[in-house]
Amino acid sequence: MKKTFYVTTAIDYVNAEPHIGHAYQKIVADALSRWHKLIGEDVFFVTGTDEHGKKVADSAEKIGKKPKEFVDNVSKKFKEAWKSLNIDYDRFIRTTDEDHKKTVIEFIKKCEKSGDIYKGTYEGYYCVGCEAYYTEKDAPNLQCQIHNKPLEKLKEESYFFKLSKYQKFLLDLYKKHPEFILPKEIRNEVINRVKKELKDLSITRTSFDWGIPFPLEKNHIVYVWFDALINYYTATRQKGKEKYWPANIHLLGKDNTWFHAVYWPAMLKSAGLELPITTFNHGFLTFNGKKISKSLGNAISIQTLVNKYGADTVRYFSLRQFPFANGDDGDFSESALINRNNSELADKLGNLVSRVSALAERYGLEKTKTNNLEINSTYKEVSNHLKNYELDKALNEIFAFIDKCNEYIQNKKPWETKDKTVLYELSNAIKDISILLFPFIPETSEKISKVFNFKISLYELEKPLKIIKIKKSPILFQKIK
Ligand SMILES: [Zn+2]
Repeated sequence: MKKTFYVTTAIDYVNAEPHIGHAYQKIVADALSRWHKLIGEDVFFVTGTDEHGKKVADSAEKIGKKPKEFVDNVSKKFKEAWKSLNIDYDRFIRTTDEDHKKTVIEFIKKCEKSGDIYKGTYEGYYCVGCEAYYTEKDAPNLQCQIHNKPLEKLKEESYFFKLSKYQKFLLDLYKKHPEFILPKEIRNEVINRVKKELKDLSITRTSFDWGIPFPLEKNHIVYVWFDALINYYTATRQKGKEKYWPANIHLLGKDNTWFHAVYWPAMLKSAGLELPITTFNHGFLTFNGKKISKSLGNAISIQTLVNKYGADTVRYFSLRQFPFANGDDGDFSESALINRNNSELADKLGNLVSRVSALAERYGLEKTKTNNLEINSTYKEVSNHLKNYELDKALNEIFAFIDKCNEYIQNKKPWETKDKTVLYELSNAIKDISILLFPFIPETSEKISKVFNFKISLYELEKPLKIIKIKKSPILFQKIK
């Protein structure tokens, strides 16, 4: 049986339209998913949309729509955005899907059986934007730190989840499995906070009705975060998908750390389910130095970026520019993107493919036993970097190999020597490069594979390129002014 690899993204809240901030995480997930498929694993990649909660109900009302009509429309836009970026997910889950509602209800019943659900009254300071309560400590002056808006004081009858009971369990988990929260800086923050105090979690609402009905009492709906987290499990409950649980990695923005690092493992433990291996907290992007707000987000839609620069340039830049593994924030700057497109994709990769294919068309190829452009050590480096989520470093390795190929052609001057064996070595190296680049820039890899006639698989990485008549490659990357 093949090793399984289950990767999830955060499901996006449908209150805003998809922008590069949402896309960054999906591009990373897609590259990881494609890589694990390439190395022969049985991969399950789930993304989707988070569609319940007061904020969504309010947004729908504002434009005179029913919530369901509103979420259908926005969810479609997310799907279209991911299609334009070649995000090849296996399931797009929506929290309004019937199988999800059913799973949430069953999940809650399991938690109740464990004695972890009780009824009480909740009083607190609530931010509608975050769909979360804050304490005075988290929110100085009773202002939401994220939305810069005053919090509302709310009091309601509510069911609670006994989160406090899991304090020791969580601290043991972080100690025994440091890989459960990555990167480690975030882990230390969580540990300190969990050590201090862990309050029970209010998990139902009665003040509005756009949510999953709470199975233990009418007129209560399930708190949107409690419902949303369960999506990762729902996706594995379809026939044939059970084998993917638990997830290998949940990708999430670091504003969602607390929910994934604290609530989620406690909830799973209560329901008697296995825990995911890693929750990975990445940084945020700004756009041309500006915070991505709702209005800016609309102006820089995924479609706009893809139309302007092409899917692979957007993907390449996102993966190469930001050190994902560090969890740092970054700036999606169009001038930096243009720079990398021109000096790396066009000048290095594009130029190599164009020169070699043109010369091979003119002089032909001849097999040789010598191989001065051996990919093996590059493959190992790439593989190690990807194990550590260092996608930028993996790309750097591949481009170092491309540099080597460009130096080789410059030194050997096959346009003077007409040496068919040198052209063969270079063509074979281009095959290897394209296979390794496939997870990052799949469209380009596929174009190259048609010119040099090979299949994109790890098996082909070990096999010498078959000789065929080569035709000059179309231009892969236009230079952008
Ligand atoms: Zn807020």
